[in-house]
Amino acid sequence: MTDSHKRVLVTGGAGFLGSHLCERLVSAGHDVICLDNLFTSQKHNIAHLLDQPNFEFVRHDVTEPITLEVDLIYNMACPASPVHYQYNPIKTMKVSVMGAINMLGMAKRTGARILQASTSEVYGDPTAEHHPQKESYRGNVNPIGIRACYDEGKRAAETLFFDYWREHNVDIRVVRIFNTYGPRMHPYDGRVVTNFIVQALKGEDLTLYGDGSQTRSFCYVDDLVDVIMAHMNNDSKSGDPQDAFVGPVNIGNPGEFTIKQLAEKVIELTGSGSKLTTLPLPKDDPLQRKPDISLAKKELGWEPKVPLEEGLKKTIAYFKSVDLDSFRRPTDHTAHKNSERSRI
Ligand code: NAD
Ligand code: UDP
Repeated sequence: MTDSHKRVLVTGGAGFLGSHLCERLVSAGHDVICLDNLFTSQKHNIAHLLDQPNFEFVRHDVTEPITLEVDLIYNMACPASPVHYQYNPIKTMKVSVMGAINMLGMAKRTGARILQASTSEVYGDPTAEHHPQKESYRGNVNPIGIRACYDEGKRAAETLFFDYWREHNVDIRVVRIFNTYGPRMHPYDGRVVTNFIVQALKGEDLTLYGDGSQTRSFCYVDDLVDVIMAHMNNDSKSGDPQDAFVGPVNIGNPGEFTIKQLAEKVIELTGSGSKLTTLPLPKDDPLQRKPDISLAKKELGWEPKVPLEEGLKKTIAYFKSVDLDSFRRPTDHTAHKNSERSRI
């Protein structure tokens, strides 16, 4: 193996983002280990990689220790959709915290550089004066709410990353990912882009939670994988992890849309006859979200290139190309059930 061909572990590698990352790493010639327990994904996402000599799939749960010899670790394992992370909230917290401890322990032992997939959810429901969100914002998270298992789990994981960096000089990188979409999202993922596209393609009504005036900023997956890899590969000049730009750094597309605008765009692009139907807004659902990406621009020379309409067209083409009935639902949650649970 040459210096540029590394042994790379991707936890959550069969998931939406993880599978795109694995694909890019395999084609760059790296020796890739994809570790996943297939909770919110299926082998379908990595089927095209399984016969590559530099790709290996390990079915494993990150909450359990594992010994592997690697040079780089992308820690992506965690259910990311609210309906899935709320399905077994105690497990979600374990995945974030114990998964981070297990992977940081591996990084400490092997000397591997390790990147954490953190989230805009560390900001919770941002107050108006913190819009768009900057990395310096400490957030507005309800620690006992239904989203806390994910938000506080990811916050605790960031704490662990920074303590391993300060205490053990582990070479960390942390990205805070804002809503990202694209091909290979699970069709029954429960997140808004997948729900709307699948509903539109099936001719069902699109489920708007609340009045649809809440906002999100949507990043296409290719842009996101570019910056995740750029952050991982950004060496410190001295080689000392303490001198590196470690983050946390916001990554996402700053284009901001209301959820109603997204629904209307999906109906237009699919040519569907679907209508909109409203359901109660889930508890603690952030009312607005938009990344300030000036730090990523300055430190990593990155900004997203793919506009929403172009990304949606590619995502719709993907969902048209797969057999939607061949996917197992990761949990028994449906859009409707989720909203009902949240009213409690
Ligand atoms: P995803 O659900 O498609 O992928 C997550 C993967 O992790 C799945 O393959 C799942 O089976 C696996 N996984 C879950 N629990 C596991 C466990 N205990 N052990 C091993 N594997 C496990 O979601 P995604 O959108 O690809 O998200 C990937 C990462 O990025 C997550 O950590 C998520 O929190 C983070 N993130 C994603 C977004 C986004 O918009 N896509 C936004 C913010 C953060
Ligand atoms: N949403 C919606 N209909 C759906 C799914 C989600 O209106 O069928 C809304 C949800 O209430 C939230 C936004 O879309 O305001 C984004 O939800 P998602 O679950 O994709 O992720 P979040 O950004 O909330 O983690």
